[in-house]
Amino acid sequence: MASLDMRTVLFSFVLINILSSLVILFLWIRYRNRYKGLGYLAIAFSLQMIAYILIIIRSWLPLWISIDFANALSVAGIFTGYIGLEKYTGRITSRIPGYAFLALLAILHIIFSYLKPDPTARYLIISLAYFILFGRCAWLMIKGAPKEMRSLTEMTGYVFAGLSLLSLFKIVDFIIRGHKPADYFNSDNLEAVVMFTYQMFIILLTISLSFMLNRHLLSDVKSEEEQFSTTFQTAPNAITVAESPSGKLIDINESFCLLTGYSVSEAVGKTALELSLWKNTKDREGMIEELLKNEVVHKREFQFRKKSGEVYTGLYSAKIIESKSGRRIITSVLDITERKKLLDTIRYERNLLRTLIDNIPDPVTIKDTEGRYLLNNKAHLQVIGAERQEEVIGKNTFDFFPSKEAEIYNRDDKTVLDSGKMIIDKVEYARHADTGFPYWHLTSKIPIKDDSGKAVQILTISHDVTERKRSEDALRETDEFNRSLLRTIPFGMDVVDETGTILFTGESFRQMFGNECTGKKCWELLCDNRQQCTGCPLMAGIKTGVTEICEVSGILGGKVFDIYHTGMMYHGKKAMLEIFHDITERKRNEGELIRSKEKAEESDRLKTAFLHNISHEIRTPMNAIVGFSNLLREPGITREEHDSYTEIIARSSNHLLSIVNDVIEISNVEAGRLKAATAEVSLRNLLNDLHQQFRPMAAEKNLQLTVDIPVKGEVSHISTDSTKLIQILSNLLNNAFKFTDTGNITFGYTVKEPDIEFFVSDTGIGIEPFEQPRIFERFYQVDSTVTRMHEGTGIGLSISKAYVELLGGKIWLRSAPGRGSIFYFTIPLLKNGHELNYRI
Ligand code: ADP
Repeated sequence: MASLDMRTVLFSFVLINILSSLVILFLWIRYRNRYKGLGYLAIAFSLQMIAYILIIIRSWLPLWISIDFANALSVAGIFTGYIGLEKYTGRITSRIPGYAFLALLAILHIIFSYLKPDPTARYLIISLAYFILFGRCAWLMIKGAPKEMRSLTEMTGYVFAGLSLLSLFKIVDFIIRGHKPADYFNSDNLEAVVMFTYQMFIILLTISLSFMLNRHLLSDVKSEEEQFSTTFQTAPNAITVAESPSGKLIDINESFCLLTGYSVSEAVGKTALELSLWKNTKDREGMIEELLKNEVVHKREFQFRKKSGEVYTGLYSAKIIESKSGRRIITSVLDITERKKLLDTIRYERNLLRTLIDNIPDPVTIKDTEGRYLLNNKAHLQVIGAERQEEVIGKNTFDFFPSKEAEIYNRDDKTVLDSGKMIIDKVEYARHADTGFPYWHLTSKIPIKDDSGKAVQILTISHDVTERKRSEDALRETDEFNRSLLRTIPFGMDVVDETGTILFTGESFRQMFGNECTGKKCWELLCDNRQQCTGCPLMAGIKTGVTEICEVSGILGGKVFDIYHTGMMYHGKKAMLEIFHDITERKRNEGELIRSKEKAEESDRLKTAFLHNISHEIRTPMNAIVGFSNLLREPGITREEHDSYTEIIARSSNHLLSIVNDVIEISNVEAGRLKAATAEVSLRNLLNDLHQQFRPMAAEKNLQLTVDIPVKGEVSHISTDSTKLIQILSNLLNNAFKFTDTGNITFGYTVKEPDIEFFVSDTGIGIEPFEQPRIFERFYQVDSTVTRMHEGTGIGLSISKAYVELLGGKIWLRSAPGRGSIFYFTIPLLKNGHELNYRI
């Protein structure tokens, strides 16, 4: 049997290894950017190649290099290949067991090479290492690789399995046959066949690896194509592929159809010009020019037209590419009409906001979390005394405000940022940066939050309320002034609404009408009859701003008030302010004044009448005196005539004297010069004397005169002014005779303790009831005309009344017209022991 030359086998093996290494190296160069681990494979093949070269040239090399080092390189090569495969499949495991395995191999190899040289052991160790390493590679490629890769890696795995089994075969063969090659180059045929088979496996391995990578590449390309196709179809941009330079569309995507309204069949084969896709052909021409020049146009804004004619704005990009089938123009259009509109709106709104912020009269700022100004407006510039916004942006409050104020502002900012809650209308006090004037402002701080709800900026708006504060202070002062005024003015004051309900009362009002006033109708409190006043100004309606006065009586028990009322607005309601002025006293004085005036006028009238009367009364006796005195001088008058004349003259003189006495006495009364001369008086004697005195007059008028004196034992003496008492009784008796033509006249007294009551009654003409109170007035006469029936001066009763009152009594009458009169008067009666003694 012809034996295989081991050297030849090895030589061919090295050649195959070199070729395989080159192939793998080529694969690495080609796919290194696409697949991992190929570099390791290239190294693995290279190491194998070197190992076998070393084996071939073993005769020229030291033994340790040709055997130990070559074996080490070979095992390391397989191990490196395994690492490469792991990297390729992505199933990377721990290297430690691998390194440990290698270390064990190295130790065993060293032991059996130098300490206990045993080529058999070395042979077995190396074969075992091959078996394990190839087996591991086989397992990785058949079972360990990811499922989707296994169809690619399986074939390689089987080659590795073959290599592993071959190694196992060598071990089994060695154990069965139990020999060891003394010289590798003189190995038997089986060894050469094994080596040959080994070579075949290496070739298969190289081919399977190439296949694996090619198939991998194909599958990648296919999926990339699918990806591209999907991307092309689903891209939001309208994408077209057109021929260059004809511009005919070859392919369009769904977005193009949706955007333009053209279907694939309508668009493909036509040019953009034929489809009128461009609104302005000049835009297209410019774009083509640029594209031909630069081969690319990037994100240019043009206006396009849809199939419907509607115009839209698109962001246009185009690129010329070279493909196997020729030059192609790829275009992409993104419809930005809405975005443009949105941008325009945003731009408009931003502009609007900026204008608003800039022109708002209140300072507005936005600060970041560090307190730096990001935005401020003109009003804020004024407050901080800066001219341009650039001077402010990026700075903080400490750059513009005194540190005390700035600290407060920052503290508030921090509170808002930390809590995320806004501060609204906080009153702050500060001074103008440029003028130093104090001012008050209401500040609101609003957090601006990011999408996660965290406050990242702070918006501050301040509103200057200095004027308002000053007005409020002024108002408060005025209010206090008004309140103290209301407390101190001595007039009652209230405010009522249109229905008369009391809305407000002053201190004096409450003092007058009580504390529980508000809410009640004013007349229920004020008016004695609890009825609305007759002239209540509310009936005519409230006239705002007009002040009038109305007089109302029957308040607080018959009092009279002037109510000054002014129409006004009270808490936005039509109301009436009323001020109450008590004029009861004034009214009474006015009444008395009027009465005094009337009395004076009456008195004047009476005086005039009196003067008329008195001249008449005086003239009558004077005429008699003068006339009869002349008659006395007449010669030849008889004695009877003489006596008669002197009698008439004497009576007239007495009458005249009594008139003059009366006039003097009334003037004494008026001057208050009356005096009483008290003495003991015997009433019986006094009345009897008067009776005697008036009897002739009674006889003359044919009247019956009666004196009514109480029986003995009654009071008969009093202590008084007898002259005045006689004068009073005489006056009353004279009047009784004067006004009585028939009937009788009675006079006398009765004791009515503690007084003694005198009376004079007649059956004369009587006095009308309404005249009765007045007849005691001086000069008053029921009939005061000159042509009256009865003579008199109208002062007798007034003198009598003055005398009675002087003596401590009073005078009155009872009378009925046509039936007569009774005049009564009293004098106080004072007891003194058993004897009755009356004094005044
Ligand atoms: P005269 O001098 O006028 O009598 P008097 O003061 O004595 O003045 O009386 C006032 C008036 O009172 C009288 O003018 C008279 O009208 C009325 N008068 C007084 N006494 C009587 C009486 N006895 N009967 C009726 N009238 C009387």
